Amino acid sequence: MPEQKKNYYEILGVGRNATQDEIKSAYRKLALKYHPDRNPGDEAAAEKFKEVNEAHTVLSDEQKRKQYDFELDHPGMGGGNPFSGGNPFSGGFSGGFGDLGDIFSSMFGGGFGGGSRQAAPSRGANIEQTIRLSFLDAIKGCTKEISYFRNEPCKSCGGTGAKGGTAFQKCAKCGGTGRIKYQQDTIFGRTIQVGVCPDCNGTGKKITEKCPECKGRGYNRAQTRFTVNIPAGVDSDSSLRKRGFGQAAQGGGEPGDLYLYFQIEPHKLLKRQDRDLYATVPISYRTAVLGGTVQVPGIDDTQELNIPAGTASGTRFCIRGKGVRTVNGTGNLYVDVQIDIPRVGRDQAKKLEEFENSVPLKSCDNMQRYAGNISALYGKNIDKQ
Ligand SMILES: [Zn+2]
Ligand SMILES: [Zn+2]
Repeated sequence: MPEQKKNYYEILGVGRNATQDEIKSAYRKLALKYHPDRNPGDEAAAEKFKEVNEAHTVLSDEQKRKQYDFELDHPGMGGGNPFSGGNPFSGGFSGGFGDLGDIFSSMFGGGFGGGSRQAAPSRGANIEQTIRLSFLDAIKGCTKEISYFRNEPCKSCGGTGAKGGTAFQKCAKCGGTGRIKYQQDTIFGRTIQVGVCPDCNGTGKKITEKCPECKGRGYNRAQTRFTVNIPAGVDSDSSLRKRGFGQAAQGGGEPGDLYLYFQIEPHKLLKRQDRDLYATVPISYRTAVLGGTVQVPGIDDTQELNIPAGTASGTRFCIRGKGVRTVNGTGNLYVDVQIDIPRVGRDQAKKLEEFENSVPLKSCDNMQRYAGNISALYGKNIDKQ
């Protein structure tokens, strides 16, 4: 039974003649959305993430894309199927940092230069760390101590793995270029591809004497600590990148990057959406009827809000410029007031009855309008209710 080919265009939500820019942009959005760090333990998201990456791997490479298009137009083709000779994606997504490193570097354009990524020496994997921040620290900015273990480039050999950083000789297989050419036969004919030399891992060098400090690996497991300044206004969608603070590369390549994500603790009184803050504040029946001043929560302190006489429950007030201050501007503080209904004793109930009886229907705009509509539509007369 021929396997139904996945439609990579549908997976990325782009048209058949999408440009590389459109493919890249669609991929970025989806990769961020389904990233395992954003969806911990969500297998459906992990599966989606894998599919999105697979689709991008093929469609972002014009040659693979041509072959794939051919395959898409000729489903169920037997021997001529260019994909039948070994699936280039069999590795898939394993959930390890190695894979993530690759995804991020292609996503943010880091590491590999000028489209020659196949021929670049291997780069160290990225590391991701999540920092817990209080609600207000995220809004105001703060400094945090970061501490984590990673493979640090060996200081003794400069990450080369060779004693003193100099005990090398030229790699015989690639003649010191770090690259080798190989032929590939496709339905379009024979193509020459350039790849990383497997003998020297793209460095062009062979170690003649290993560095005693790192035993030739070029890195040492160590604790990395530093203080990071977290700018004001970050939220759980933000990330910070610290270049070169990821895992050391094997064989002298560039180290990966460190990505910092934020887990922000909730606040008891405030909620946040982008730059705006929201609070729900209880007011008394008396304040709603007669008006008054209430204290509402703010970033640095409480502040006073004037409630005009005759304020309905659920009314929203906007205090401009009292939201989150970011480099892109400052948000507002929105306050929803809610009349708190008191529990009353027998005497208070009696007084409330007396009060109600003293207020005529015509003093209650909404109820008067409502009673008028009921009368017109149903022919019934109602009083205050
Ligand atoms: Zn080599
Ligand atoms: Zn070393």
